[in-house]
Amino acid sequence: NPLVELKNIQKSFHQNQVLKGVSLAIHKSEVISIIGGNGAGKSTLMKILTGVYKADSGELEINGENIIHFNPLIAHQKGIYLVPQEPLLFPNMTVEQNLTIGFDKTKAEVRTTTKKLLEQLGWDLDLHRYANSLTIAEQQQLEIIKGLLRNAKVLILDEPTSALTFSETKSLFAVIEKLKTAGVGIFYITHRLDEVFQISTHAVILRDGNITLKGKIDQFTKEMLIEGLIPDGNIKNDT
Ligand code: ADP
Ligand code: MG
Ligand code: MG
Repeated sequence: NPLVELKNIQKSFHQNQVLKGVSLAIHKSEVISIIGGNGAGKSTLMKILTGVYKADSGELEINGENIIHFNPLIAHQKGIYLVPQEPLLFPNMTVEQNLTIGFDKTKAEVRTTTKKLLEQLGWDLDLHRYANSLTIAEQQQLEIIKGLLRNAKVLILDEPTSALTFSETKSLFAVIEKLKTAGVGIFYITHRLDEVFQISTHAVILRDGNITLKGKIDQFTKEMLIEGLIPDGNIKNDT
């Protein structure tokens, strides 16, 4: 079974039909890049996958089980975890407090598991620092650790490198590689095509509310992806 599968998802906001029947599945150890112009519906699709938005129609299966009533709490329980473009941390709490809040584990348990995770991932994040003193990259690390502590099986990274330096990006990619090896499924939202070839196993183009291209990364060239985003020399933005 796929870790999760979306089937024929439709979603409109008022008269604006953003998703016109999108189907997408992810399996263990897949890193699926989701590419599309601004406003193509990438974030909307991922918010549906995390129960933040409700689809107008379509189905969601998690590990083969059809989920009828879905919400963010169930998404977390099922191991689906979004690392938002702008992390939503409690600024006046420490890293450790941010990791522990709303979590039915003791401080000691969280500390032990977090230290193990940080060591495995090669990150050096001081648990006693306040969230408001963290760089964007460190905030992201905190969000990823938060998901992994809760046994994330599917991680969604929404344009994660947009505010990272070159070396921070390299560090993130190394971690993605490790998570992939550990069996985590990753949706990687981006509009940077070079990154797509660096880290993904699969690529998906979302355009005009539909998936217009989907497949294993090794069958695509950069030119094919560009063409998929902007067909026939039509350089109009798709918003
Ligand atoms: P992307 O992430 O690909 O840039 P989004 O999913 O954020 O695109 O947005 C797709 C379209 O849906 C845009 O036209 C956006 O304005 C619209 N949209 C997204 N969320 C909402 C909302 N909560 N209310 C109204 N329109 C929305
Ligand atoms: Mg956008
Ligand atoms: Mg977006």
